[in-house]
Amino acid sequence: MKVLLTGGAGYIGSHCAVALIAAEHQVVCFDNLSNSRPQAIERVESITGTRIPLVVGDVRDREAVHRALTDHAIEAVVHFAGLKAVGESAEKPMLYYDNNVRGTLALVEAMAECGVRRLVFSSSATVYGQPQYLPLDEAHPTSATNPYGRTKLMIEEMLGDIAAADPGWRIGVLRYFNPVGAHDSALIGEDPNGVPNNLMPFISRVAAGRLPELSVFGDDYDTADGTGVRDYVHIVDLAEGHVAALAALTTIDRPLSIWNLGTGQGYSVLDMIRSFERVNAVSIPYRIAPRRAGDVATCYASPAKARDELGWQASRGLDAMCASAWRFERMLATRNSG
Ligand code: NAD
Ligand code: UDP
Repeated sequence: MKVLLTGGAGYIGSHCAVALIAAEHQVVCFDNLSNSRPQAIERVESITGTRIPLVVGDVRDREAVHRALTDHAIEAVVHFAGLKAVGESAEKPMLYYDNNVRGTLALVEAMAECGVRRLVFSSSATVYGQPQYLPLDEAHPTSATNPYGRTKLMIEEMLGDIAAADPGWRIGVLRYFNPVGAHDSALIGEDPNGVPNNLMPFISRVAAGRLPELSVFGDDYDTADGTGVRDYVHIVDLAEGHVAALAALTTIDRPLSIWNLGTGQGYSVLDMIRSFERVNAVSIPYRIAPRRAGDVATCYASPAKARDELGWQASRGLDAMCASAWRFERMLATRNSG
């Protein structure tokens, strides 16, 4: 299939491009490069040995999306493009509603104009809000505690209305848990601008000596060791989940489907630190800091629906996640010094 990846130069999009090409899809990336660089696409090209057209454009520009869809005879879209920093979303809510919600609206309008009605959307486990039970299955009630989460929820609801109004759509909403790690080649990975918000890139930078120590946000949660528990999923597994979701859109006779992409296994912050230290033979200085506002104690997926309907389950464990994250961090150090 010819697939347009909005946000295809980003962390998840670039790994998905590799997985889609391995599954013999043709990929075109569409990205405004607000949080990525075109070099990421070149690296995907060198991993896959395939040329990937990059359209530099903004999803809020409906005409630009329309042109990309028709110029490349696109049959399906995987929509990664969005802003994702929770703290920034509270400071700049208008920016988040504009980029994420208006951007998705412009995208689906352009898709409808062009008769492209197959869409996979990057949602997040954040839409479950405070867990009422665990593991989180797709039927768990949804809510949002910050503007970022609300944009994901609003988009999910908008897509639900679109699918209800026109059952010719095939929409897959993927609720990611905590994607971490990097491709085995270490050519692509997660390299956030500024100080990372997320745990794994923060740990990698502490290990590399680029940051002095990790702050562990709270050790008094109701968890085994008091630190927050999350469902970390290897980015390559996550990418393969998109290939499975895209395939399911052609076989499942339902206009909208929601699938969790997680492992079903929770690890604490201290588990993550210890695994990273052991697997990579490095040390991660840390100190216990106050809880971060809005964090939940424990969050992990029921991956049963994705397993049953997509035939997908994560196969890479925590050691592989930590090893690949560190390989990528060391590769960055080589690149920056070279
Ligand atoms: P990323 O920032 O690395 O990638 C997003 C890409 O979208 C970037 O290349 C950016 O330049 C591009 N982009 C942003 N706004 C755009 C616009 N208006 N038009 C065109 N391009 C635009 O982030 P990521 O981690 O790869 O996340 C991809 C998607 O997955 C996002 O929608 C994010 O909300 C969602 N998600 C990410 C995580 C995570 O932990 N990384 C978890 C849950 C959901
Ligand atoms: N965390 C932490 N220090 C950091 C970043 C994160 O202790 O510098 C904790 C955070 O409180 C949570 C877990 O690590 O328990 C995962 O946080 P992340 O921001 O990566 O993901 P999310 O909060 O979206 O699940």
